[in-house]
Amino acid sequence: MGKYKIVAIIGTRPEAIKMAPIISLFKKDKNIQLITISTGQHKELLKPIFKLFKIKPDIELDIMKENQSLVDIQNNVLTKTYKELSEIRPDLLLVQGDTSTVLASSLAAFYLKIPIGHVEAGLRTNDIYDPFPEEMNRLLVSGLATLHFCPTKLSKDNLGKENIKKNTFITGNTVIDSLLILSKTIKNKPSGLTKNILLTCHRRENFGKSIEEIFDTILEIAKERKDVNFIYPVHPNPNVKNLAKEKLSNVENIKLIEPLDYLDFVKAMKDSYIILTDSGGVQEEAPALGKPVLILRENTERPEAVSCGVAKIVGHNKNKIKKEIYKLLDNKEYYKSVAKGVSPYGDGKASQKIKKIVINFLDSKKQK
Ligand code: UDP
Repeated sequence: MGKYKIVAIIGTRPEAIKMAPIISLFKKDKNIQLITISTGQHKELLKPIFKLFKIKPDIELDIMKENQSLVDIQNNVLTKTYKELSEIRPDLLLVQGDTSTVLASSLAAFYLKIPIGHVEAGLRTNDIYDPFPEEMNRLLVSGLATLHFCPTKLSKDNLGKENIKKNTFITGNTVIDSLLILSKTIKNKPSGLTKNILLTCHRRENFGKSIEEIFDTILEIAKERKDVNFIYPVHPNPNVKNLAKEKLSNVENIKLIEPLDYLDFVKAMKDSYIILTDSGGVQEEAPALGKPVLILRENTERPEAVSCGVAKIVGHNKNKIKKEIYKLLDNKEYYKSVAKGVSPYGDGKASQKIKKIVINFLDSKKQK
């Protein structure tokens, strides 16, 4: 039995990827009893990540049902995590990011007066409806948490502006820890004549007209540029999957594929020339791999890469997307200036820093 009991909670694919290095570190420490709870918000996407990082959730809540509303998810996670946490009574709950799992489980912990450590704290777009509902989830969790692990100075400053100044730490983002662990095991492929453009697009804010415009733009570029190969691992959400099939199937240089396991996705990022994405995690990973990233959103809570000149916001506007892709494809000097391999979101040591802070906090609490 460890000296301290910590529960780490995971609901979705990015939470698993970003929590994995923390879980691995704590598991190695005999003083800690680490209990992993999976709410299963993205059940199918979680399994391969658990396998890859050798994580076996101690408790599976299995909350996912077809076409669940946000209210259903909140209700289910709140009720079920409250029950588990009241039995386990951990010294700390660790949550990561901004999902419904994070908000509901944090609220459950708060009702039980269990302190919360929030990994990836302080990200803000300052628009409560974009991303929806994640921006509000982040805001509310910052109000509930005791320890705030901020990836960058900017995210710590964001909390400062909300008068959250106690126990805010700059640690880097743990996604870079996971990425670097895997990336070291992958050899670079020699680049061929065609250039791969890796696409991911699945966010709620893009559903409807925006995603249609994005897909129409991809189709147009694919037709105009035979030297380009689009690779698109399609998210299982039916809002995305059906439209992607309808608009982008049967085009020679657009490859629609199933979501990739994380290791294969890291390989695909390494093999790509440009990355086009609306994902948060991918915005953090691409710069660390030296890949230019175009953000398919109107706003980002991760502006650090844009400020360093390694990412650009292109939204869903056809002209903006095309202009930027063609510039990267045709202007070598410009490409080099963007693909310079700076990693504003971390150095691969975030989990170690987080662990140290957690132990200090628990030790000092015990002494009181
Ligand atoms: N990812 C993956 N396979 C894929 C697409 C993405 O493993 O086919 C990884 C990606 O490297 C990143 C994470 O999933 O670490 C991002 O998850 P997602 O885009 O679902 O969520 P977001 O980051 O937008 O919250």
